[in-house]
Formats: sequence, C-alpha cells, structure tokens
Amino acid sequence: MSDQKGRDTHRPSIIPRSDHTVSRANISENAIKVLHRLHKGGFQSFLVGGCVRDLLLRHQPKDFDVATDASPEEVRRLFRNCRLIGRRFRLAHIHFGRDIIEVATFRATHEELDEGDIRGQTDEGGRILRDNRYGKLEDDVWRRDFTVNALYYTLDGYSIWDFVGGVEDVEKRILRVIGDPEARYREDPVRMLRAVRFAAKLDFSIDPPSEAPLWELGHLLKDVPPARLYDEIIKIFLAGRATESFRLLEHYRLVGHLFPALAAELDTDADGQLRRLLFDGLATTDQRVNDEKPVTAFLLFAVLLWAPVKKRFDELHSKGMPPIPAMQQAVEDIVKTQQSHISVPRRTTIPMKEMLALQSRFNMRRGVRSLRFLHHPRFRAAYDFMLLRASSGGFDSEAAQWWTDIQLADDKTQREMAQVGQGARSGKRKRRPRRRGARKRSAGQGSQE
Ligand code: ATP
Ligand code: MG
Repeated sequence: MSDQKGRDTHRPSIIPRSDHTVSRANISENAIKVLHRLHKGGFQSFLVGGCVRDLLLRHQPKDFDVATDASPEEVRRLFRNCRLIGRRFRLAHIHFGRDIIEVATFRATHEELDEGDIRGQTDEGGRILRDNRYGKLEDDVWRRDFTVNALYYTLDGYSIWDFVGGVEDVEKRILRVIGDPEARYREDPVRMLRAVRFAAKLDFSIDPPSEAPLWELGHLLKDVPPARLYDEIIKIFLAGRATESFRLLEHYRLVGHLFPALAAELDTDADGQLRRLLFDGLATTDQRVNDEKPVTAFLLFAVLLWAPVKKRFDELHSKGMPPIPAMQQAVEDIVKTQQSHISVPRRTTIPMKEMLALQSRFNMRRGVRSLRFLHHPRFRAAYDFMLLRASSGGFDSEAAQWWTDIQLADDKTQREMAQVGQGARSGKRKRRPRRRGARKRSAGQGSQE
C-alpha cells in the first residue's frame, strides 16, 4: 500500500535523534516511566499524538499519550496505579497523583471506529461499535485524523517513526487528513471541528484537499451527539484561540450548523453591534486564558448566545413582560432550541441564566438595592458581561463607568452615589409605584396569552 505521494505506507521513515528537536528533557517524567516499564515488560511503547506534534513545535504538551502493543489487561498487570476505562474501547489510565498518562493499545483502522465512542463520550445515540479490535503499530497510524497527529516517538534510540509524512507537515505547518478527507470527515464529522481547532491553535494552514470538504459537509454535524459537540466546543473556545477559531468556523460556513440562531442574527446585524460584542467577548476569553486566569463555560455561552437571546428578550419585553422574567424566558427559549445541536449542561445554563437576568439591574442605580447588588454572588460575572455590552455599544457607557466607580468607592461615597439616606421615604415612595406597575404589566401579559 502506498499513499498519495507514493511512500510505502507500511514502513515508517525513522527519524534519528540527531535529525529532530524532540528532547527527553521536555517529556514528563511519568510518561518516561510508563514507556520504560512497558519496554521492560517486553512490549512496544511510543509517545503518540498531540504531544509529539507539540514537542516538535517546541510547545509544552497538554498531556502525554502512550500507544503500545500490550493489551489493556497486560498494561494493568504491569502497573499498580492503573485503571482501565472506557466501555467499548478499553484504555489504561496510569495515575501519578493528579497526573494521568493514558495508554492505548494499537488499534486497527475501521470505518466503525469513532473516537468519541472510544472515549465513552457518546452515551446517547452513539453508533454501535464492535468489540475492541487491536492491531499493530502500522495499523494504528491509519485510524488517526491528521498526519501531524500520527507521529510516534520511542525511547529506543529516541527516534520518531513517521508513516505519513507528518514531520514534514509539522515543518511546513500544514494540517493534512490521513486518507481520503471526505471519507474521513464522513466517518467522524467532529474531525472537521478538530481541523478548525488545530488550524487556529497551531496557526497551521489546512491542505486544500483536506480543506475543500469543510465548506460542503457541515450538515453532517447534525448526526454528532450533542454532548460530544459540547465537549468539542469547549475545547475550541476555551483554549486561548477562540477568536481565530470562530473566524475559521465562519469562513467554512460551519457556524450555522452549530449555532443556527446566532448565525441568523449575525446575518442581519446591520450596525455590527452584536458581532462586536461576540468578538470582544471571545477576545476577552482568549486574554484570560493566555493570562492563566480562570474562564467559565457559562460566560462563553452567554457571549455565543447573546445575539439571539437579546432578540428574544426584546420581543418578550415589548409585549410587556418585565425585564427579569423576560430575560429568564429568553435564555430558556434560546437554550432550548440550541440543545438539539449542542447539549449545554445545566451547570452551564443555570449560572448563565442568572447572570443574564441580572443585566437589567444595571439600569437601577438608586437606592439600597443597587448597593446590595454589589454583593450578589454573580455580580462580578454580570459586571464583566455588562462591560462587554457597553464596549460594543449595547449599554450606556456613562452607566457602565458608574458601576466601575462605585466598586472602588468607600462606603460613604457609595451611599452618596446611590443616593441612599437622602430621604429614605422618597426611596420608598419610588419603589411602590414600580411594583404596582410591574404587576400590572405581568397581568397585561397574562391577558394577552
Ligand atoms: P490536544 O493538544 O488538543 O490534546 P491531541 O492531538 O492530543 O491534541 P486528542 O483529542 O488528545 O488530541 O487526541 C489524541 C490523538 O488521538 C490525536 O492526536 C489523534 O491521533 C487521535 N484522535 C483523537 N480524536 C480523533 C478523531 N476524532 N479521529 C481520529 N483520530 C483522533
Ligand atoms: Mg491530547
């Protein structure tokens, strides 16, 4: 068998230590222990996947994956600190405190293989797979997605084994699907999102034959279990390259297959305000990730879903629903339609709903309620989001500044700013009619339904 370039695909080119830049010094000690132990046990053992690619690029790998010809049970016999995971496809996890080295047995390539199922991520609606089909190293190569993800590093001579021209592609910074791109995307449409993710993360270009189907096959994403898409979306957008990733998703017309309501709003966003908020939000997320500050999925989804949520909110509010319930209802409605594409878990939607519902409180700058709001557990997230709205032109900038200033002020100044204590009775008088008004509006809404 030979590939498009006429290479013998069953013989790797073996790149000796002197001809590559992967140094043992940059490999985790635990991974090295695992490789050694497997080798001493009489098995083949390689580092594989993203870690070899990243080491060649002189990036620090996120984690280290090992591939071996030992079966999962044989791996377990070698390591006390080993747990086998995965239902249909067994993987061995070797635990070193918090660090985990994943050890996968070589597998043969078959059209039924789907990485999500292998990893047990697709509970609902996942395709039925046959039993584990273990293979040899030269089989394992072909099930992998991109040439740069199919490089094997061995401690035996510290060489890299390359069956697919992956080292050359790393050097040229090209993402190339192994095998026929369209067939491989059809086998597992998540590979299209992985193409975007790696292109953005590594700043690689996508080889034209691997790129062309991306414009055509977005509709296949509807067959991917929504829970798996959620995981992939998190990987795409919380890795420090969200802005570039979104740009590429738009370029390949994939946004509509993931976030149809957002895509529709962006198409009709005449003054560009919604797009500005989206891109500012993604840029802020990237900045936080790159500064190693924590980022939350609920803020990300608020940014991604704000355009349709805002539209729904405006509809409900103009019908007379008060701001807080209207926002809750708007989030509920948009999340519900979004769920059929990407299943956003409740741990994300609940705080998102809470945080967006708080947006209307930034319009109320008088009275003790505004001071109390400063101590709300979600104030900080709500404030950050309000700033995004302000910088994109969706919220009054003077009011935004007021909320910034009041946080920095001392108690006395805060009370002055909120006009607290300057006639508590007038405050009371103010509140009452508002409550009655709210009730009336709710009743009005009810009678319309
Ligand atoms: P990252 O830096 O994001 O971890 P990675 O390349 O290590 O990148 P993983 O998702 O950790 O990506 O997968 C590890 C390896 O498993 C990949 O490098 C690739 O060889 C293979 N792989 C993962 N998902 C797929 C898939 N859907 N189809 C084919 N091969 C896959
Ligand atoms: Mg990885």
